[in-house]
Amino acid sequence: MNAEIIAVGSELLTPFRQDTNSLYLTEKLNQLGVEVLFKNIVGDSREHLAEVTRIALARAGLVILMGGLGPTEDDLTREAVADALELPLVRDEAIVEALRKRFSKRGFKFTENNSKQADIISGATVLTNRNGTAPGQWITGSYDGNEKTIILLPGPPHELKPLFEEQCLERLREHLPPAFIASRVLKVAMLGESHCDDRIAPIYRRYPNVQTTILAYAGEIEIHLRARADSLEVAQQRVDKVAEKLEDELDEYVFSRQGESLEQIVGYYLQMRNATVAVAESCTGGLIGERITSVSGSSRYFLGGAMVYSNELKHKFADVPKALIAAHGAVSRQVAAALAEGIRKRCGATWGLAVTGVAGPSGGTEEKPVGLVFHALSNGESTEVVERKFPGDRERVRWWASQQALDMLRRKMM
Ligand code: AMP
Ligand code: MG
Repeated sequence: MNAEIIAVGSELLTPFRQDTNSLYLTEKLNQLGVEVLFKNIVGDSREHLAEVTRIALARAGLVILMGGLGPTEDDLTREAVADALELPLVRDEAIVEALRKRFSKRGFKFTENNSKQADIISGATVLTNRNGTAPGQWITGSYDGNEKTIILLPGPPHELKPLFEEQCLERLREHLPPAFIASRVLKVAMLGESHCDDRIAPIYRRYPNVQTTILAYAGEIEIHLRARADSLEVAQQRVDKVAEKLEDELDEYVFSRQGESLEQIVGYYLQMRNATVAVAESCTGGLIGERITSVSGSSRYFLGGAMVYSNELKHKFADVPKALIAAHGAVSRQVAAALAEGIRKRCGATWGLAVTGVAGPSGGTEEKPVGLVFHALSNGESTEVVERKFPGDRERVRWWASQQALDMLRRKMM
């Protein structure tokens, strides 16, 4: 079955509030094998809400609306859904009575506007709200000749979640044919998005029952694979088959097969090889060290390093010869190599990793433009240097540089 979610509330159309309920619901629905095809955010307008509800009913088997069930003037979800279904609202006096009791028990004054929370769409099942005054509603009925389920849920997350878990999950499970969704995330380092897709599209296109989504970040691409089937094994097999073909094609560009981060993978390899690393960072200002040490247990393989922005400190902390800097400039292949080897020796590490570059936006020259970064990796026997020209602002250049540096280390240890 496919679902559509409608988040109700004018506050969700401002920059100050976000619809988080739909993320929660999507996760729960996916676990039931239900795919969410559309999400909408609609302000507190009866007309707009009825319009979106009609559109949703025409294209999804399950429509969930949340918010707009409270007692105030702007809470119009009940009325709008009744409009869309062309069904009357019927006041449930037992609910009004329960609300009155709830108020008096807490010593609050019951105002008449509370009664509208007891207006139930004709034929709906009431979903009791343990944590608030507005009950939810569940309607199963025919719309344009097709069976549809509509669920109305209260907006506050601490009301919606327990109500959904206690009163909707089991009902949905009984209602649905068994279905399972399996997913995998492959991560790819330092490959362009279009280049990556050009290589893999001919493969994933052959598997229309696996949904493939490509998300690109600076220096990293995530390939999300999802499949739905009537058993988890079959769904998993479908996803794994495509994952395997994509891994074959992209080969060493794939660094993560189960969603791990690049720094986790680097740490994993360092531990496996019983190796250590030290860093000398200019340009990235400690970002490489920060990323490596964001992984728990990293002190076993990360020895430390230095942030060496001045020429003086490049010499003092990483033994870069002053004459080398004078001859080639601080941003150069030669200085990057000397930094990597210098810091490795100074720290007694297996690997020395270094970057030097122009992060911008100022400081670029014709010869050494903004975005130019040299990355070096040394193990005492040989030193590899990679020169890159990265796009984007200061933050992006620094991120790209850290990504390239970590990826060099990963590739060397693979
Ligand atoms: P309502 O049921 O429309 O009165 O919503 C009450 C409160 O619930 C709002 O002020 C929000 O704080 C919260 N809320 C409503 N909808 C959402 C949503 N989609 N995601 C997260 N919080 C929400
Ligand atoms: Mg509201």
